[in-house]
Amino acid sequence: MVNRKKVAVIGGGVSGLAAAKAFDERGHRVVGFERSHDFGGVWELSRSYPGVQTQSPKALYCYTDHPMPEEYPEWPKGPQVYDYLHSYATKHNLQRLFRLNTNVAAMERRADGQPGWTLTLEAGSHRWREDFDFVAIGTGQFSEKNIISHPGQDGFEAAGGQVMHSSEYTDPSMIRGKRVVVLGGSKSATDIAVNAAENGAASVHWVYLEPVWRIPYFVGGINFKRLLYMRAQEQQFNTWGKSPFQRVIAALLKPLVWANFRGLETLLKTQLKLKKYNMVPDVPIEKDVSCSVPIVTPGLFEGLKSGKIKNIQGTIDRYDAKTVHMTGGEKVEADVSILAVGWKLGVPYLPQEHLDKLIESDGQYRVYRLSVNPDLPDMGFVGFNSSFCTVLSAEMIANWLVRYADGQLADQPTEAQMNDNIEMMLNWKRNERPAAQIYGGLCSAPFHFKHFDELLTDMGARKSKRSNPLAEQFSYPDHRAYGEFLASCPQYQAG
Ligand SMILES: Cc1cc2nc3c(=O)[nH]c(=O)nc-3n(C[C@H](O)[C@H](O)[C@H](O)COP(=O)(O)OP(=O)(O)OC[C@H]3O[C@@H](n4cnc5c(N)ncnc54)[C@H](O)[C@@H]3O)c2cc1C
Repeated sequence: MVNRKKVAVIGGGVSGLAAAKAFDERGHRVVGFERSHDFGGVWELSRSYPGVQTQSPKALYCYTDHPMPEEYPEWPKGPQVYDYLHSYATKHNLQRLFRLNTNVAAMERRADGQPGWTLTLEAGSHRWREDFDFVAIGTGQFSEKNIISHPGQDGFEAAGGQVMHSSEYTDPSMIRGKRVVVLGGSKSATDIAVNAAENGAASVHWVYLEPVWRIPYFVGGINFKRLLYMRAQEQQFNTWGKSPFQRVIAALLKPLVWANFRGLETLLKTQLKLKKYNMVPDVPIEKDVSCSVPIVTPGLFEGLKSGKIKNIQGTIDRYDAKTVHMTGGEKVEADVSILAVGWKLGVPYLPQEHLDKLIESDGQYRVYRLSVNPDLPDMGFVGFNSSFCTVLSAEMIANWLVRYADGQLADQPTEAQMNDNIEMMLNWKRNERPAAQIYGGLCSAPFHFKHFDELLTDMGARKSKRSNPLAEQFSYPDHRAYGEFLASCPQYQAG
């Protein structure tokens, strides 16, 4: 018999919705808190820059029981994703579980000595505390803006210049007729550079520290979902927990794997003309692939070719009135400086004593299956296993987390087992796969299949692979198949 719990879900984005559904479905009493006025998280309309679209193809950015509409393009636009998330919430009647405009200000262990947490909540001027038996955290990796400034910014602004974080660029009228500098190497930086160039900016300079591998939507004419999201490709990256036999096989196949990645690099260099734009990365692609690998914004290389976008390697050194000086010595006249420098990862409402247990001194998170920490009971993260198909990752871990919370995993780990696994994963990230350290180590890509295999095994799934071995080996993680695998896990109801 599983006791019905009162469960807090923090966040109303992709992950919060997945968590609310998973806990509600098992019969728990869910109360969700979203600090914004609306659902959607990064896709909520007032937080999205114009022209934003997914990096993942639509079949790889949906919940298992709710495909994106047929009429959506292969890579849906931001407002379409927003509508899609609303339709998912409506389908499962999740809105009734959430309190919008409600911020979780603090989270402490319960003072009454019961298992669980006390949340300090704020809605307008109202502030109160509420106890929960379990907390599912879905506050994402992109909630706190990374704010940076450069010497001379005040003078730039006094001269009429404008400095903004990428999330504040919400309307192209902000840059029409203006000279724009966009700082950052990520997809949001290139999305904004292209959007500005195509929407009447007088000039666009795109400034980034170093070239990184960027994957076009079509690699050699083939949709990248057919090339990069498959077990056969994933198995070529140096994964964790290899047995001695697997290590021998990996050593034997090393030349083939090497040739495969050099082939991919050559294809990308030729297709994107990376040499011409001085954008060939130094790092071998197989070492670099992680959640930070951007997809090429359509129009980026066209903009570079036409000269509408000019790329500069380096960063902003200082502003001098309306002149922006770069670290490489270049000087650019600008009216608007858009800092696409990302977001701060963190759990700011968790007190330091708990953060000390969660985060290592080098910023790596101590989380078993990228979700739970044995020293912080009665809580877990949903969506901290981000990937190239984050909606599916969030749904998978939400289903895992509710079973973990209820002691219903087929393979319920002990504290010692979790700590051993955490140490093994940290060691792998630090010594064998530095790319996996990105975002505090909270990225399951490119190891989607392996991560999902572990979760399904833990949950006791009777089916975790497609019947057709060729499809299983050579095609992407299909949401319908994962729906079937989840349905094959032992079901139960709390009550
Ligand atoms: C422009 C862009 C494009 C992307 N494209 C893709 C893609 O194609 N494929 C992919 O896999 N991923 C993509 N991502 C990554 C994306 O972040 C995830 O796919 C997913 O949307 C994350 O959802 P989440 O719910 O975990 O976090 P979020 O969407 O960040 O939602 C977290 C929510 O928690 C709320 N919150 C935070 N703190 C509190 C608090 N203290 N109290 C109450 N509420 C709080 C926030 O308001 C927010 O609504 C993209 C991200 C961006 C920014």
